[in-house]
Amino acid sequence: MAHKWVYLFTEGNAQMRDLLGGKGAGVAEMTQAGLPVSQGFTITTEACNAYYASGKAFPDGMWSQAMEALAVVEAQTGKGFGDAANPLLVSVRSGAKFSMPGMMDTVLNLGLNPQTLQGLIAQTGNERFAFDAYRRFIQMFGKIVLDISAEMFEHRMDAMKQRVGAPTDTDLTSDHLQELVRDFKAVVTAETGQPFPDDPLDQLRLAIGAVFSSWMGRRAVAYRENEGIAHDLGTAVNVQTMVFGNMGWDSGTGVAFTRNPLTGERVLYGEYLQNAQGEDVVAGTRTPKPIAQLREDMPEVYAQFQQYAEMLEQHYRDMQDLEFTIERGKLYMLQTRSGKRSAAAAVRIAVEMVAEGIIDKHEAIGRVEPEQIDQLLHPFIDPDTRGTLTSIGRGLNAAPGAAVGRVVFDADRAEAMGRRGEKVILVRPETNPDDVHGLIHAQGVLTARGGATSHAAVVARGLGKPCVAGWEALRIDLEARTFTVDGVTVREGDLLSIDGGTGEVFLGEAPLISPEKLSDDLQELLRWADGAQRLQVWANADYPSDAAKAREFGAQGIGLCRTEHMFFQGDRLPVVRQMILNAAGAVVDEADGRTDGVHYRAFHEALNKLEEVQTEDFAGILRVMHGLPVVIRLLDPPMHEFLPRYEELLVEVTRAQAIGKPNAELEQLLKEVEEMREANPMLGLRGCRLGIRFPHMYQMQVRAIMRAAATVSGEGLVVKPEIMIPLVGHINELRLLKQLLLKEVDKKQQELGTNIIIKFGTMIEVPRAALTADEIAEEAEFFSFGTNDLTQTTFAISRDDAEGKFLLEYVSRGILPKNPFQVLDRKGVGKLMRLAVQAGRDTRPDLEVGVCGEHGGDPESIEYANSLGLNYVSCSPYRVPVARIAAAQAALAQGLARQTV
Ligand code: PEP
Ligand code: MG
Repeated sequence: MAHKWVYLFTEGNAQMRDLLGGKGAGVAEMTQAGLPVSQGFTITTEACNAYYASGKAFPDGMWSQAMEALAVVEAQTGKGFGDAANPLLVSVRSGAKFSMPGMMDTVLNLGLNPQTLQGLIAQTGNERFAFDAYRRFIQMFGKIVLDISAEMFEHRMDAMKQRVGAPTDTDLTSDHLQELVRDFKAVVTAETGQPFPDDPLDQLRLAIGAVFSSWMGRRAVAYRENEGIAHDLGTAVNVQTMVFGNMGWDSGTGVAFTRNPLTGERVLYGEYLQNAQGEDVVAGTRTPKPIAQLREDMPEVYAQFQQYAEMLEQHYRDMQDLEFTIERGKLYMLQTRSGKRSAAAAVRIAVEMVAEGIIDKHEAIGRVEPEQIDQLLHPFIDPDTRGTLTSIGRGLNAAPGAAVGRVVFDADRAEAMGRRGEKVILVRPETNPDDVHGLIHAQGVLTARGGATSHAAVVARGLGKPCVAGWEALRIDLEARTFTVDGVTVREGDLLSIDGGTGEVFLGEAPLISPEKLSDDLQELLRWADGAQRLQVWANADYPSDAAKAREFGAQGIGLCRTEHMFFQGDRLPVVRQMILNAAGAVVDEADGRTDGVHYRAFHEALNKLEEVQTEDFAGILRVMHGLPVVIRLLDPPMHEFLPRYEELLVEVTRAQAIGKPNAELEQLLKEVEEMREANPMLGLRGCRLGIRFPHMYQMQVRAIMRAAATVSGEGLVVKPEIMIPLVGHINELRLLKQLLLKEVDKKQQELGTNIIIKFGTMIEVPRAALTADEIAEEAEFFSFGTNDLTQTTFAISRDDAEGKFLLEYVSRGILPKNPFQVLDRKGVGKLMRLAVQAGRDTRPDLEVGVCGEHGGDPESIEYANSLGLNYVSCSPYRVPVARIAAAQAALAQGLARQTV
């Protein structure tokens, strides 16, 4: 038997999502469940892939199967495709496995031609309606299938409305629409050089091809790239009997979510329009009414819809996004799918569905994307300054969060500026799928038309960007590149602030702050996540305030305290410079036995001062983290990071000389800085090499740690300090430093009369350390993967230089699949890690292993860390909640959940 390319809705079900796409599987499942669905058939995603494989030809058998399916639908409906007396009209829609809202194209009313039009008029007794359906069909078919610019049609429609004085589309009469049909056909002929195709089968063939082709269209590709959806999934095509929401005021169409997608509240949320077709709601050309209004307008239909909504949510065990049409008082369900939702809604719905017994706690954890958690921690407008801002009005609050940026009126420019790192707010009359690339690179979006389910709102919510929509007072002049609202004119490039949570818009830059507290629902979900994790989540924190934030967000330890960051605080920098600039001289003094030498004295004076402040810093962190481990890394960066820049000094010295006022002090400083210059400082005197070259510095830090630990434990708190040596490449480096520093530890223990247990370990951030991890583990009680440096040294790519220069291009050209400084490169860097964990634990089975590079907060990298059996990942405090969810999801996905929650 020939391969099956086509399935009737009665033949499919929800499990066939891969093959039928989300929409096809959804309508099939609704059909199975006995819901009122207008009938049709689905051409599979396999057919789409076969279409591409054969250079854009339908695969053998597909068309004849479609014809057979069409015959069945004709029998089901009692209508005939192309039958002038009793015409069957269909919609042709795309539907991929994953919902790509508004990404793909839909053609409605297909099958109309001058003959079937007469049939439609006879069937409905409504000439105006029939001509409206016809002009819509030509318009959509023209745009989507024949690739004619939508504006060509819109322009004529607007001109007609103006000419006849019709404020809205529904004010156009049958005669007007008839004239528009003629006009639109003329546009098609002029643009394509061919008359509009009248044969319904030609229309169907072309439309199916266009849907297949749209899979590889620019906007679909951009969306998939952003969402990480594979390009080879293909889209299915759904051919479905038309039902009409524009047959009069007892008809209508709408979209609704079973819960509020902004807040998660358990109420039907959505919009509908009377006497309208689907695209009127989504495109935002008319502003719809809230769904609650349907209860007033058509109580029975509303009750029925509510019942179906409830049923579908229970059936799919998730919040659903529903589309429906009412044709002369009869309700049809067009589509159901899991609804996109804001981060806050995702959390609330997941937690409430557990309480309602719909899902269990493990499923709840899986219902929230880790990155969504990040949005909950995203900025909002500082309430204290709100009153001082210049508000210029309010649109619809369509996607939460606040954003600041420069006004840009087109997606291409938004993308270009966004890529350059500039913050922009995309302002459009309404958005459509062609704007997605701009939305991706904007901070937020503002539209004049369309409701909370308009394209802009849906896409912005999915991307986690603030959106203010449907601001009808907004007058946008795309030519002049300005918008005006209530007499205020804003130009492209002006700074604007939007609050997607309230819909307010402000001139200028509003001060944004990050939320301080996690919601109760989120805390609950995170507790469940902690119960399911195998990996712990620690934080990178350099100050007590960071540590406090980390702890509040649920960190179970500090995985990296970069002690050098403390050197930049307050007025410490001069002391740090004194230490650095005298370090080399002090070594010479000391070798010569001159402990009263200038350098030796200056060096030790600085060290003593730093020991005091570091003791306080460490005590602050240990106090906050009482009972939990704190990994303190000894000095790591190249010393020049603390000194004035050589080039700048040189300019100053030369300038002083040129004006005849040489500055001896500056010249001396220049000489010293020059002596410390390195061609490749990241591969130079840094990390443990510093500790070996200038042991007093590391000894000072160890003394400070010991004193801090003794003080805090003297306060009755439990301290768990761990000392970490950076950039080790050879066992001898670690061995030497360990001997030296353990002596310091012992000395301090005796002096302070304490017996605090201190772990001693190293970072693995140089390939050689990973390759010789068996040896390294002889000395190290713990490993912490410094994946920033490990990536840098494995790729031999300078992380400080590459991103702006070539790395992003590498990623956009597909030379590298992802930026390896953000998402761990499993094949290369990850392989070294795997080796190191195995070899390290062969030597020392209880070796504690973590990740403290940026990857520690990245969900994909966390998943890998989980698969390696690491003990923890460590990330910045604000990423901790994200990492907790990601760690739990990784454990659940890999079947390693610690316990059942
Ligand atoms: C690392 O290299 O991954 C690391 C955490 O150290 P730093 O980023 O401070 O070099
Ligand atoms: Mg490093």
